[in-house]
Amino acid sequence: MDVTWTPRERDFRALAREWLTEHVPREPLPSGDTRDGFAAHLEWERTLFEHRWSVVSWPHAYGGRDASLWEWLIFEEEYYRIGAPQRVTQNGIFLLAPTLFEFGTRRQRDELLPRMASATDLWCQGWSEPGAGSDLAGIRARAERDEQAGGWLLNGQKTWTTRGAFCTHLFGLFRTDPAQERHRGLTYFLVPLDTPGVTVRGFDRLDGDEGFADVFFDNVFVPDEDRRGVPSVLGEVGKGWQVAMATTGSERGLTLRSPGRFLRTADRLVELARERQHEVSDGLVERITEGWMRAQAYQAFTLAQVTDIVEGRPPGARSSMNKVFWSELDIDLHETALDLLGPDGQLDGPWSRGFQFSLAGPIYAGTNEIQRNIIAERVLGLPRK
Ligand SMILES: Cc1cc2nc3c(=O)[nH]c(=O)nc-3n(C[C@H](O)[C@H](O)[C@H](O)COP(=O)(O)OP(=O)(O)OC[C@H]3O[C@@H](n4cnc5c(N)ncnc54)[C@H](O)[C@@H]3O)c2cc1C
Repeated sequence: MDVTWTPRERDFRALAREWLTEHVPREPLPSGDTRDGFAAHLEWERTLFEHRWSVVSWPHAYGGRDASLWEWLIFEEEYYRIGAPQRVTQNGIFLLAPTLFEFGTRRQRDELLPRMASATDLWCQGWSEPGAGSDLAGIRARAERDEQAGGWLLNGQKTWTTRGAFCTHLFGLFRTDPAQERHRGLTYFLVPLDTPGVTVRGFDRLDGDEGFADVFFDNVFVPDEDRRGVPSVLGEVGKGWQVAMATTGSERGLTLRSPGRFLRTADRLVELARERQHEVSDGLVERITEGWMRAQAYQAFTLAQVTDIVEGRPPGARSSMNKVFWSELDIDLHETALDLLGPDGQLDGPWSRGFQFSLAGPIYAGTNEIQRNIIAERVLGLPRK
């Protein structure tokens, strides 16, 4: 692995930094998990798109810059370094899009990706159900074939749908073959949320933001192909589990949580310690140093992983290692900051809010207990019992 940046990559960094310095809003936007905040973030997403910074690694024809994975990492580093707004389009561009590139038909890619890049279609993820969280294969939402009408009738409920109340489309798993059990007989559907029979009911998170939704499907008809000829099923009917595993690989691994985010948090922690030098005990210095080193280690690990991907060795189950590492690191960095802030850490602010959100890290994208099971069985090859 060569860890030096090429002149082209250095130029790319300079270009990204210059553009972000000029365009990132001076004042932080309100939380993207509220209705008003989401709208403000969409404006930002569209500015990114207009200047071809919303999906840098995608082909030019879809609104990207044909940037390499290395350049994408550089962009992410610069994005977080300057404190640019959270990406409210992340479920589409970071989770569904890589899956569309891998499993989508030409028509699906040509029609869906540009609309996703420009924040015209806003995608949410419909995996979890009241009875299917860690045990995702326990999905009960079903899709029944309507041969005469040429499509499927969806029924059931999805829950914990991040920003579902503000999105226009959902990608989700439904059981198409009730005779099959568990991972078999599931199909990956792409559903516009304005389809008759869909009810989206937003609900509040503990921090008060309406960031989640329940989505109910009551005899929702999805045609085999929509008016533009785009198939509603991604991948093969009955093979949705394999397609969904590609999406979760992106969620746990590289694309949802790139190292730039944690490098920036670690740097902010060091800045905080410098500002409050007189309050920093030796014990805190040790924790800050360790947190900073772990953020660097995550970057080194990611660079090795990108080398693997570029050389044709996809991470597969190893993306569970990223997930455990970044989620635990995020909590530790925030906890250290709160200890440093002392009583001030109790006040509403970026560190206390960041801490609250970091606590969700070991839960979303598959809990860390499940990731540890995956690492034990599929990476280390340990027996199931
Ligand atoms: C911030 C956030 C955003 C989310 N966004 C979405 C979204 O957009 N779309 C979506 O579909 N879902 C979303 N989720 C839901 C998330 O995927 C589930 O919460 C997660 O999969 C866990 O499922 P559960 O909550 O039903 O917990 P359960 O599965 O009931 O687990 C409860 C506890 O038991 C443990 N456990 C369960 N099974 C095992 C086992 N076999 N071995 C060891 N321990 C086990 C778990 O680790 C956990 O600690 C989100 C969750 C959060 C917190």
